Parts: sequence; structure tokens; C-alpha cells
Amino acid sequence: MGSPQGRIPELRKDSVTNRWVIFSPARAKRPSDFKSKSPTTTQTQQQQDCPFCLGHEHQCAPEIFRVPPSSGPHWKIRVIENLYPALSRTLADPSAQYPILNPNPNPGSGVKVLGGFGFHDVVIETPVHSVQLSDLSPQEVGEVLLAYKKRIEQLSTHDSIKFVQVFKNHGASAGASMSHSHSQILALPVVPADVSARLDSMNGFFHETGKCSICEVGVEDLLIDESTHFFAIVPFAATFPFEIWIIPRHHSSHFHELDGAKIIPQLTVVAGFEIGTGCHINPVFPEDAAKVLREVQNSE
Ligand code: AMP
Ligand code: ZN
Repeated sequence: MGSPQGRIPELRKDSVTNRWVIFSPARAKRPSDFKSKSPTTTQTQQQQDCPFCLGHEHQCAPEIFRVPPSSGPHWKIRVIENLYPALSRTLADPSAQYPILNPNPNPGSGVKVLGGFGFHDVVIETPVHSVQLSDLSPQEVGEVLLAYKKRIEQLSTHDSIKFVQVFKNHGASAGASMSHSHSQILALPVVPADVSARLDSMNGFFHETGKCSICEVGVEDLLIDESTHFFAIVPFAATFPFEIWIIPRHHSSHFHELDGAKIIPQLTVVAGFEIGTGCHINPVFPEDAAKVLREVQNSE
């Protein structure tokens, strides 16, 4: 299946905010099975139209790999190309000439424009439309995490890929356009400013104290749950209500070495003040959120 026609994607750096912005006209064309369906649409009708369902593989962009690898029609997980990618894997790899100043509207001005090279994949977490990630067994969830790990390892072999983000939008209110359980992997040719700021902050903490700020995280009131290898907390200065960090006990710095994930329920709207200042207002104290989450955990 061909990719949607249109202008090629581009990354532009805003020299005021120091932020890279991805311009990707193809994204506007992506369908949504949340918006287009009436309330009377049945599960069967949804499945008939869903490209992520078993048997509809031909409606998807090309497959990268499936789990198990030679499972034929009996796959459990598929990692596929995004049909409406934010970045293009077919553009020239910019690693040789980074940063590409082409097309630069004002050469010599310091304006940074990068061709929109990158990878945008979809991970279909189950062949069955009605099954959500939370319905899977711990072992099956583990297989999804291992699929992320395998794909990140593949992407990290590209010299020009500087950062890989795995993310999952669950439900229309979290920004999802497809109801079939899936997540996405976006590999960028730049390190986003918020990520660099986090790394700089941790670096600063290390130089000041000789310690890793994640390892040093105080867990007493903030702990939700723990296992042999991980513990889950509400961070001390959580940006969002009921934000959760899952942190590995073993110190590691990359997700594909099974690093900590973040879970951020979208309970508040990022509005004018947050957009204007980057400073977030969280109505729930982290220690109160942790208490509620511990109670939910215990009542299950
Ligand atoms: P979300 O918007 O978070 O639900 O993610 C769904 C993703 O699936 C979007 O980024 C779409 O571009 C992508 N998508 C939609 N239809 C297809 C398809 N037929 N093949 C591959 N990717 C698709
Ligand atoms: Zn489906």
C-alpha cells in the first residue's frame, strides 16, 4: 500500500524556544475509528473495518517483524510501518551532513531546518480487536516490551537516529485515533529539548552530589508497588495527577536495557498557562495520589 502523497516532512528548530517542531502533512490524513463511528456501531462492524485486526494485514503499511517470528497467520504481535508517518524513512539519511540546512529559508541566519528523516512504527499488541493491553497476561505484556526492545535495537543501528520514543495513546481522550490496542515508536534525528533538559538536570545532580537522581528518588510516601526488579512511584514533583514512574532496581540508562517507563493519565488539560510557561499545575499532591493508587492495588 502506497504512502499518502503530499509535501515531505520537515523538522524546524524554533530558536526562541529551542524546540524542534515536526511538520508532517501526511498526519492530517490519518483515519480515526473513534470519530467516524456512530454510537450504534457494533464491535463486529468495527472489526470489519479495522486494519489492525487479524486477517486485515493487507490494509496496513509494510510489516517490519511479527512475534513469534515465523508465526504465519497466527501472529501475536506485529510491528509495522505507520501508514501516515510523522517522519519519512525513505528520505536521504542525514547522518553524513548533519545538520542539513536544506531547504533553509535564510542561509547563514542560524535557522535550522532538517529534512524529515526518521522512523514511525506501529506495534499491534494483539490480533484481537476487543482485547486491551490490560487484558493480556504478564507474560504477553512482557512479549510486547520485548518487541519494543528489539525494534529500538534495530533503530539504534542508524547513525542519524538520536532519540527513540515508545508511546501508547489509550482511548480517544488520550489522543488515540484507532481503538485496536497498539502503541507507537518514533525514532528522531534530533534529541528533543525536554529530553536534553532532563539529561542536563540529572548530570548537574550527579556533579553536585556524586549520585544518580533516579536511584536517589525517595520512595517512602510515594511508593505504589514493588517487585524483585522494579518499583512504581508517583514522582515527588509529578507534572500530572496520578503520573506514575516505573523504575528498574538495577541501574540502567536505556529502555532497550529495560529502563523505567512513564505512565501519564490525561486527567487535566494542558491549557494556556502550561503552554505559555512550560510550568504545570497539578491539583493532586504526589503522596495523596500514591496513597490512592496503593489502595486500588490492594483492593484488586
Ligand atoms: P493513535 O493515533 O495513537 O491511535 O495511533 C494509530 C496510528 O496508526 C496512527 O499514527 C496512524 O497514522 C496509524 N495508522 C492508521 N491506519 C494505519 C494502517 N492501515 N497501517 C499502518 N498504520 C496505520
Ligand atoms: Zn481491530
